[in-house]
Amino acid sequence: MLEKTDSEPSQPHSLQASCFCGAISYRVEGGPVFSLYCHCTICQRIHASPFVHVIHYHTGSFNWIHTDPNALFTKSELDSEWKEWRCLSCLGAIASENPTEGRWSLRGAHFHRDAEGMIENWHLIEPTGHMFYNTRMLDVNDGLPKWEGYAGGSRRLDIDDKN
Ligand SMILES: [Zn+2]
Ligand SMILES: [Zn+2]
Repeated sequence: MLEKTDSEPSQPHSLQASCFCGAISYRVEGGPVFSLYCHCTICQRIHASPFVHVIHYHTGSFNWIHTDPNALFTKSELDSEWKEWRCLSCLGAIASENPTEGRWSLRGAHFHRDAEGMIENWHLIEPTGHMFYNTRMLDVNDGLPKWEGYAGGSRRLDIDDKN
């Protein structure tokens, strides 16, 4: 008979997040497709913020975990590229869904925090750069790569501009 050990076998990473009021929550499994600060004008206007910490996960990694099926609403058209979901209670934009690409776009600020207010397991979702930096409302001098559009698929502004 096998002895029980103190350490569990290593589990795939599972992270949870909630909207401002807590009525909406979700869980993601495994690593993100990417985690970046987004300076696009859509994020700026939806969140009324100079930039937003955006995390993409594959559809298979994402699950809603709140219990009220009527807690979510969207006004996005069915054929829109990104379907923006909001909480019916706090009206916060909690996540957007791209069924064509099989992606969920999430916001780092919604992920669960410890007693000091810091996001738990930050190293798993820490941003690796800045995208859509061309439409930035402020410069960020953090040493991370700055992309004109999506990371890897557009011009590096922090390199190409220094010629
Ligand atoms: Zn809410
Ligand atoms: Zn954006």
